[in-house]
Amino acid sequence: MANSMGTRRAAIYCRISQDRGGAGLGVTRQEEDCRALSARKGWDVLTVHTDNDVSAYSGAPRPAWQELLEEVRSGYVDAVVCWHVDRLTRSPRELEDVIDLADQYGVELATVSGEIDLATPTGRMIARMLGAAARHEAEHKAERQKRQRRQAAEAGKIAGGGKRPYGYEDDRVTVRESEAAVIREGARRVLANEGLSSICRDWQARGIVSPAGKPWKPSGLRRLLASARISGRREHTPRGSWEHTRPLLGEIVADAVWPSIISHEDSDRLRAILSDSERRKRVEGSERRSYLLSGILHCAKPHTDGKPCGHSMHGRPRSGVPRYVCPNVPGTDSCAGTATNAERTDDHVRDMVLAALESPVFVQRLRAPDDEENKLYEEIRRDEEELEELARDVGERRITRKEWMIVRQPVEERLERNRAQLSKVSRAAVLLDFVGSFEDMQARWKKMNNSQRRAIVTACVRRIDVNPANPRRRWDPERFVFDWLA
Ligand SMILES: [Zn+2]
Repeated sequence: MANSMGTRRAAIYCRISQDRGGAGLGVTRQEEDCRALSARKGWDVLTVHTDNDVSAYSGAPRPAWQELLEEVRSGYVDAVVCWHVDRLTRSPRELEDVIDLADQYGVELATVSGEIDLATPTGRMIARMLGAAARHEAEHKAERQKRQRRQAAEAGKIAGGGKRPYGYEDDRVTVRESEAAVIREGARRVLANEGLSSICRDWQARGIVSPAGKPWKPSGLRRLLASARISGRREHTPRGSWEHTRPLLGEIVADAVWPSIISHEDSDRLRAILSDSERRKRVEGSERRSYLLSGILHCAKPHTDGKPCGHSMHGRPRSGVPRYVCPNVPGTDSCAGTATNAERTDDHVRDMVLAALESPVFVQRLRAPDDEENKLYEEIRRDEEELEELARDVGERRITRKEWMIVRQPVEERLERNRAQLSKVSRAAVLLDFVGSFEDMQARWKKMNNSQRRAIVTACVRRIDVNPANPRRRWDPERFVFDWLA
């Protein structure tokens, strides 16, 4: 090998101490990184040596390691590439052997995790520090495990440990049809803008329980429906990237080996809807109350300065009669001066909404063009991919953590905006299953609960202002001013 100056004949050495999957993926990844490093340095890779499943402390023989030493001694190679010094040697003793070899044969050592020049005292000191310090060992072990998790995620492998995922059998791959049907129902209802608590209440009544055998709770249902798993995709959230609670959405890194229960598109929409904090307030916040229009009605009584009060009205009975009132909230300038009979108001709003929905033009204007929805999906996907790439860059030290924080911020902001927009666009989807003749709609309305009805109302109306009562009229529909969404 009479190459030009600087070009070396390299041997790659890979080792992983615990390769539970047995597929040698960790080693594959080490080799990839080492090959890339060799290419950057302009070295020719002649051989690759791999020791697998040999624990750092077992003292078991490492056949590939012996081969490597042989090649160095015979002068066949004059450079060794490994992922980290601790991949190469298992003990300070072995490291001294390597340093001796470097002395005797002029072998150069390169590691993916950083430059170490064994020909210089400084390089040796660094190598010894790296090789000997138990703290470093522990740190890098954790790093390897993180890497393995990520690799497993990318390969769409099954995450080990933990409880059986809902919708799948104990093998975590076979779909359990009875539960898959429940997941599909939940997805359909959330996409139709029904509140999570409403769905949980219904499931409780029907005896549908969580994997732990307990009644479904909104938080658990949110996690289930927002997980990429049920769409047959693998999701990865880097450990240490959050403080208290695992974020709802991780990065989607690969198609998984298990089959999907819902489509990618529905999963993307659910993830957008369920991570939208505005939607949470709108749909979930008021749904515990049995009042249909709480928070949708706004008090329009003028303050002394002539400006309308604007406070949202809430359901509250007086002498057993349900009413919506402008509440007296200390610390705000709510006027507490407007009230309206809840039952009559609900009926009036229902009639107005159903009448509006009878008009095909109105419905068409509510429905965003499919183009917009598709465009949003596409942008969200692109940004998710970019975040994933950035995370990989920082994981492999191509960029620093600080740089990562800076570049990912605008991407995350755009992602959040687009998810919110997608959730708004999807809101009108509820109407697809609902719109029909006035009588049809009325019949369906009758069977709905208030959460489902709210979904219909909020798909049509931004808000409804309520003017003060006219003392001469007992029931005055003119008091209600609709702010239609189309
Ligand atoms: Zn008021």
